[in-house]
Formats: sequence, structure tokens, C-alpha cells
Amino acid sequence: MTSIAEAWRAASQRIDRLDARLLVESVAGCTHADLIAHPTRLLSADLLARLDALVKRRASGEPLAYVLRSAAFYGLEFMVTPAVLIPRPETELLVELAMEKVRLLSAPRIVDLGTGSGVVAVTLKLLLPEAMITAVDVSPGALDVARVNARGHTADVRLLLGDWYSPLGDERFDLIVANPPYVSDDDPHLRQNGLPFEPQMALTDGVVGGDGLACIRLIAGGAASHLLPGGWMLIEHGYDQAAAVRDLLHAEGLREVTSWADLSRVERVSGGCLR
Ligand code: GLN
Repeated sequence: MTSIAEAWRAASQRIDRLDARLLVESVAGCTHADLIAHPTRLLSADLLARLDALVKRRASGEPLAYVLRSAAFYGLEFMVTPAVLIPRPETELLVELAMEKVRLLSAPRIVDLGTGSGVVAVTLKLLLPEAMITAVDVSPGALDVARVNARGHTADVRLLLGDWYSPLGDERFDLIVANPPYVSDDDPHLRQNGLPFEPQMALTDGVVGGDGLACIRLIAGGAASHLLPGGWMLIEHGYDQAAAVRDLLHAEGLREVTSWADLSRVERVSGGCLR
């Protein structure tokens, strides 16, 4: 028999100490406070074997969020599986800007294109209970995860399967948000850190030798036909794509085209409105 404190110590020899603690807490079903207050609590052989399997996955480089099947976004917990991108803190900027753009509307119509795990759509629904929120994704596996997250947070979000605007017909919205794949196909980052474990279709447009903007071009290209008068489009993009995205939004006839910087002072979201 092994105590939770010994299990933590042993796991810390193989992976990061904080990751080890979170895995022990997850397997033992306990909190950090429990671990400190009752370090001698024993783990059954079954639970130890489960912990060992999770530690092995983390040691192989699989991101902690997939091993835990959970990630935090905007102070909320969401389920994540390898069917979806792990939420990034910079995407919280997209949520904050979205809130600002619809704050004067009583029941804004909002669509999140390429919703993945649904974190943006679900968070917006929780922040704006009166909003009518639609979330679109081309991946049935991603939409399943988004459904679990919407139910888990009791957020009434309409989930539609399809490619960008295709399931929306000629519907128009007060706000279109998207955190699309934008990493260019030959970016070495795709082969670093945990990125090889994430769905490549959520990271890159897959255009060999391209600029990573293929999906953003499609999204920007639908603004005039899917925004209501005065409606806003907000798109998250790569660290070096702000000027190119502003050009695409201008070309679509949008006004007040602007880019906003994330907490690392990188221009991360660009948008414009239809007048
Ligand atoms: N910002 C993410 C990264 O650096 C990419 C997210 C995306 O492609 N939408 O990996």
C-alpha cells in the first residue's frame, strides 16, 4: 500500500511536481488541502495503477489537460479530449472583446465559428444569459465535447455541425467570433511542446507552404453576408498576422477595423463592424 503523499513524491521523480500533484488529486478524488491534511491516506492498488498510467502519458509529453481531461478557461472548468484544441489564455481576450461589442444589445445573436471544445460559446452564454448563441464546428468529435461542456455548465447553446458558414444558411448575427486554425503548415511550433498531440485541423489550415490564413480568409469573406447592420466580427489570429487580417476585413467592407493586444502585448484579435 502506498500513501497519497508517497505516490506524489514518486510521481514527482518522473514528471513536473505540480503536474504530479494534480494527477494524484484527480486519481484519489481529493483536493490539495486533503493532500496536505491527510498525507497518509492510502491509495488502492487499482488507483495506483491508474495513476501510473496517467504519469506515463504525461511523461511521454502528452499535455496535462488531455491526461486530466480538463482545462480551465475564464475561471471555469471544461472537458477537453484530443478531439479539441486545449483552450489558451490568450483566447480570453476574444471573450472580453465580444462582451464589449454586444454590451448595449438586449438579446444579441452571436455565432462562434469553429467552436472546438465550446469554451468561447459556453463562457459567452454564462456571461450573457440573454444572448442567443450558436456554435459551429466541422468535427463531430469536437461538437460532442462542446455538447458536454454546454450541458455541464447548463448553457443553452445551439450546436451545428458543418464547415464555417455552411450550416447557417443566410442567417445574420450581431457578432461573429472565431478562434480558427491559423498556424502555417510549415511552422516548427507544430512539432513542439504538446502541439503534436492536438488536432492538427484545429491548429493549421493545412495549406502546404501557405500563410496559415486560409480559414481566416473564408471567415472574413462571410462577414458582409452574415452580419446584421452594426454587427461585429472578431477573429483570433497568429502573432504576425494582424496586418493581414485587418486587410482582409477592410477588403470585406468592414469599418472600425482594429487589432487588440493580448496580455503578452501581441496583437492577437482583429475585428471590424458592418455599417
Ligand atoms: N495560439 C495557438 C498556438 O499557439 C493556436 C491556436 C489556433 O490555431 N487557433 O498553438
